[in-house]
Amino acid sequence: MTDIPGVIQKLSDTGDLTREEIICLLENRTPELQAFLAEKASATARKHYGNKVFVRGLIEFTNYCRNDCYYCGIRCGNKNAVRYRLSEEEIVECASHGYDLGFRTIVLQGGEDAYFTDEKMTGIIRSIKSIHPDCAVTLSIGEKSYESYKAFFDAGADRYLLRHETADPEHYAKLHPSNLSAENRQQCLYNLKKIGFQTGAGFMVGSPYQTAGNIADDLLFLKKLEPEMIGIGPFIPHKDTVFAGEKAGGLELTLYLLSIIRLMHPAVLLPATTALGTIDPRGREQGILAGANVVMPNLSPVGVRKKYDLYDNKICTGEEAAECMNCLKNRISRIGYEIVTDRGDNIKYLNNRNKMKEGK
Ligand code: SAH
Repeated sequence: MTDIPGVIQKLSDTGDLTREEIICLLENRTPELQAFLAEKASATARKHYGNKVFVRGLIEFTNYCRNDCYYCGIRCGNKNAVRYRLSEEEIVECASHGYDLGFRTIVLQGGEDAYFTDEKMTGIIRSIKSIHPDCAVTLSIGEKSYESYKAFFDAGADRYLLRHETADPEHYAKLHPSNLSAENRQQCLYNLKKIGFQTGAGFMVGSPYQTAGNIADDLLFLKKLEPEMIGIGPFIPHKDTVFAGEKAGGLELTLYLLSIIRLMHPAVLLPATTALGTIDPRGREQGILAGANVVMPNLSPVGVRKKYDLYDNKICTGEEAAECMNCLKNRISRIGYEIVTDRGDNIKYLNNRNKMKEGK
């Protein structure tokens, strides 16, 4: 039997745990242990980033998708989804609107939409970067070839979010059709890192069939990959998917995992996600208090927001971007943190890059 105090000590001292130790932490979760880890984790985040919370303006620019992920509301098999895509001009305008609101990171997220060829994407990236050179551009548009990722990077994209979803190939196969594989998804992440992107991986908490062993494997995979960003949020069922009748992932487990992830990756950029805010009205604030340090308000034009419908009852689909930003500012300041408009790069990544520049 592994002893909990020993495991926690090791987690805070080294950021490293074995599979058994992670499972032990998961199986022995109590409100007291969770509060203890949240305190340690948020102190760790403050040590690296102070009481700053970084914002990313999320533009959901297309809900066309060639994939059929069983959990996702915009899967190609969902004939009830009302499809839309923003024009290149609309995307750039939306980014500029975000810039005026103070955003210095724009995230372009979408389904895997063949309309947006590499040429179109690099054009959009170049336009945004030429108008707003001090703004970071993050992409989240799924699995592409090494060459495509390289073209995006060379056009000026800074970061890429691609959740690995689940590290275990067998679990992956229960969440996705057979043309998609955990291996390819993970290879994409290694390619992104190799190219030089600040890279984000992550998974859904409480996805169907997920076991404590799966979560342990996810945390071990993240440790091996060492991404600059980690995105986790609860799975939430969507009415037009294979998993319509499944239950949502838990708030408490998600918060607990945010704390463990913060302690395993002290400098990582860790969002309190929209899904977390959807399962609990104060989910995002609680996420920050558990060790998260990023929020991603929606910048998409109000007219399309309801259509980017990944899961049921998604929040913030009615307000203008400025309202979302104000609402979040208030929420964050009420818990003693401050939303800042820095680009919010990963500190470790910046240090390494500077060392390379100096030829060390
Ligand atoms: N096409 C892009 C973006 C996917 S949407 C890509 O492949 O990366 C972004 C994330 O939303 C997904 O990675 C998934 O983890 C999450 N997501 C999708 N459906 C969800 C659901 N029903 N509940 C919670 N999160 C979901």
